[in-house]
Amino acid sequence: MPHRKYFLDLSDLQFKRVRLPWKSKLIRSILWIGAVVVISWGYGAAFNKFFGSRKNKMLTQEIESIKLEYSLLGRQINNSIKVLDGLEQSDAQRYRPILDMTPVPETVRKMGSGGVNKYADLEGFDNSDLMVSFQKKVDDIKNRTTIQYQSFSTIEDRKNEWKREMEHLPMISPVNVIYRLGDGIKFREKHPVLGTPQWHHGQDICTPYGSEVFATGSGKVIQAGWEGGFGNCIVIDHGYGYRSTYGHLSNIKVTVGINVKRGDLIGLTGSTGTSSGPHLHYQIDLYGQYKNPLYYFNNDLTENEYFDMIQSLTAQSKLR
Ligand SMILES: [Zn+2]
Repeated sequence: MPHRKYFLDLSDLQFKRVRLPWKSKLIRSILWIGAVVVISWGYGAAFNKFFGSRKNKMLTQEIESIKLEYSLLGRQINNSIKVLDGLEQSDAQRYRPILDMTPVPETVRKMGSGGVNKYADLEGFDNSDLMVSFQKKVDDIKNRTTIQYQSFSTIEDRKNEWKREMEHLPMISPVNVIYRLGDGIKFREKHPVLGTPQWHHGQDICTPYGSEVFATGSGKVIQAGWEGGFGNCIVIDHGYGYRSTYGHLSNIKVTVGINVKRGDLIGLTGSTGTSSGPHLHYQIDLYGQYKNPLYYFNNDLTENEYFDMIQSLTAQSKLR
């Protein structure tokens, strides 16, 4: 019920309703509206003061804390990038060259970066630049790590294959005792026994009769018996195109078809076949091309030891 005012009209003794003029009504209304606006504003200000500012303060602290976390994360990301740089460098400049592998192409290393804008969701915020830059770095690390992992797997496979190959190549001296070196690879105008001109395809190594002869690399024996001028002869197929031949033996300790490892005793030196005295005819061929065996005596030797050995053997060879 609206609040109404009445007065007693003495002229007719009746209560009559007090009616305000329209101006007074207008002024009253304006005053009421004004009061409502002022009170509302007051409440709003007080609310903000006690609740709003506290919330803002918490948000500000939270943002500062997030910025700090970003900063620490940024340092870790930069450290990870440095580690990754180092791994990629070792991959390209050490492991692959040693194993005779081609480097990972730049196009492959950069695969996955660029393309459609994957960061559209992060745009439009106050710190969009920071967030996009971080996300890009993280994605970049992810791609590079995946590619580097694959590269190391390939290197590991190649390393195992290379190790296997190294075990098979004929890379040591076939005898422990060397009196002196005989003829090496050369065209002989006069064969010491036959007296005819012909090529000599191996290295003659003069040793005491009955010296032990060792397999110079792992492989399969493909010949073990008499072979014309080589007399008692062993041939080992090492794979990878390599074969080694051991001639003029006095004794053969292996049979065709068996597998031998580097250093296994396979026979004893002698002077069988076309030979002028006890010596080992040692021969290496790669896909049928004859190689100088002296260059394959280098397993387990340092560079200096290897050259010392060659010099020493060459000097002894000249003394004969
Ligand atoms: Zn010979």
